[in-house]
Amino acid sequence: MANVKTHTFDAVIVGAGGAGLMAALYASRKANVAVISKLYPTRSHTGAAQGGIGAALGNMEEDRWEWHAYDTVKGSDYLADQDAVDVLCKEAVDTVVELEHMGLPFDRYPNGTISQRRFGGHTNNETGKPVMRACHAADRTGHMILQTLYQQCIKNKVNFFDEFHVVDLIRVDNTVRGVVAIEISTGDFHVFHSKAVHFATGGWGRCWEVTSNAHSLTGDGAAICLRRGVPLEDMEFFQFHPTGIFRLGVLITEGVRGEGGVLLNSKGERFMEKYAPTIKDLASRDVVSRAIYLEVQAGRGINGQNYVHLDIRPETVNHYFEQAGEKRRIDREYIEAKLPDIADFTRTYLGVDPVTEPMPVQPTAHYAMGGIPTDVDGRVLANVDGSLIDGLYAAGECACVSVHGANRLGTNSLVDLVVFGRRSGNHMAEYCNQTDLLPLPDDPAGEVMAEFERLRNGSGGVKPVELRSKMQKSMTANVGVFRTEETMATAVSDLHELREAYSRNIQIDDKGKLFNTDLLEAWELGCLLELAEVTAESAKARKESRGGHARDDFQKRNDQEWLKHTFYFRTEDGGYRLDYKPVTLGRYEPKERVY
Ligand SMILES: Cc1cc2nc3c(=O)[nH]c(=O)nc-3n(C[C@H](O)[C@H](O)[C@H](O)COP(=O)(O)OP(=O)(O)OC[C@H]3O[C@@H](n4cnc5c(N)ncnc54)[C@H](O)[C@@H]3O)c2cc1C
Repeated sequence: MANVKTHTFDAVIVGAGGAGLMAALYASRKANVAVISKLYPTRSHTGAAQGGIGAALGNMEEDRWEWHAYDTVKGSDYLADQDAVDVLCKEAVDTVVELEHMGLPFDRYPNGTISQRRFGGHTNNETGKPVMRACHAADRTGHMILQTLYQQCIKNKVNFFDEFHVVDLIRVDNTVRGVVAIEISTGDFHVFHSKAVHFATGGWGRCWEVTSNAHSLTGDGAAICLRRGVPLEDMEFFQFHPTGIFRLGVLITEGVRGEGGVLLNSKGERFMEKYAPTIKDLASRDVVSRAIYLEVQAGRGINGQNYVHLDIRPETVNHYFEQAGEKRRIDREYIEAKLPDIADFTRTYLGVDPVTEPMPVQPTAHYAMGGIPTDVDGRVLANVDGSLIDGLYAAGECACVSVHGANRLGTNSLVDLVVFGRRSGNHMAEYCNQTDLLPLPDDPAGEVMAEFERLRNGSGGVKPVELRSKMQKSMTANVGVFRTEETMATAVSDLHELREAYSRNIQIDDKGKLFNTDLLEAWELGCLLELAEVTAESAKARKESRGGHARDDFQKRNDQEWLKHTFYFRTEDGGYRLDYKPVTLGRYEPKERVY
């Protein structure tokens, strides 16, 4: 432990996105809390969230939180736990008002209430028609949430350790004692000794080639937990958002379709009318992504390629508004005001002005429905029987409560961050006040420091970038929008080989200490490879189609056998075992999904 600095806090929160900051805000009111983040907090991916945060405020038209709950359960393909969904949708309403009172600059209606728009899968349950539920600040909603929460944390004097990369969890039996981190600028190791640890490290879209996710989304928290004996839940369910910019994956928010935009194939047909007659382009994301895939397969991709058009041109949108008997009309000013970033992205990356031309889009790897299993207070589950790991918490995209089940509805991640960030932060502070600080084990950083030395000194000639791009290609081809036994088996065997190469032959260029991002990226690749394998194995085992997990060889949902959550455990010998936990049902019995 010679060169290792030790810090002591009641609790450490790993991650400074929406979930980590909301947890920090609440926990810091009652306990001494540190937030550790590999990125400067306001660079977290929450800042990239565009379209909105869902809450049944009913500002423009009738809405109820129970309708939001039903939509969420239906969207999840009935895999979400309905007690948790009730918490999400009920508490969404006052959490959004709380954000407003913190100063979040939402768009507003002329009467001063928060402006809301339509989003995929959100409906008036009586008519089945889309409802305006997504509260937004133009198309920069996440940016505003992140800035607002960060300012509140600064005001509350939360201790921040910015650009510290957490690389291990210190776990002794069923308790946690803190984390090990590397200070990125110096390369020094630090031990954070604490009563509780809270992971809020976000997703792992970087397992795939075309993704909407930032480079930093490498699943560190989930991978660290897995290595320390924590199971991962429902990892087969990864969401492909229907509208990423062709080839680049950069997200075009569903808010575009919420504002009236439509998807068109090479024949100019609005093909979603065929796949989802009632709700059309605003069907849930799994449904729309599959529809795009099927159109492309049938030869109706634009120019014979694997993309379609997303059209928000006023003449197109107004035509469909008129056809639907709606009085609204949009124009250039409206698009520039409601979707300024989108207009900017497509002009910058594609040279396409969305006011005059349609945008080329394809499905893009977007969101992890699965993750570290928790209860509704963010406490991490040790097993399918509901037993807990003392002092360990998780919230946000890295966690699985499970409120999103097999497919998340748009706007429900931002709700998840603030609702469960708040609950877990509160619970963790209470826990800290009732618990003593347990001693650190001997040499708590030793094991992970040895792994870093191995990565630094490896001389096998295999560069991390080679392995990463092979993994991303295999995951896209084999564990993408559609899957079969054969493709998933290919992915499993590819990943096995890649993990072998990673553990034997990895070699990096930078052998230094200061700002060694080469080394840290090599370590992140280890996390990605591990999570990719967990995803492929969990997916291969589930012999049905549900939500984001669509199989060509088992095309139907099978509630008799598969209305259950997958738990993936790493075993002592480096292998794995799967176990299953029943879904908590409630008011809504599973039925066929029709949109
Ligand atoms: C382009 C885009 C648009 C989106 N739009 C919407 C939307 O409109 N509505 C909606 O509901 N959802 C949206 N989502 C999804 C939503 O934004 C994310 O799911 C959510 O922001 C994740 O928040 P988080 O707090 O869990 O993690 P993030 O915001 O991803 O933050 C992760 C944090 O963990 C830290 N971290 C990670 N690993 C380590 C480590 N090893 N050590 C230290 N720190 C670490 C990072 O520094 C960062 O601070 C969008 C996502 C994307 C990518």
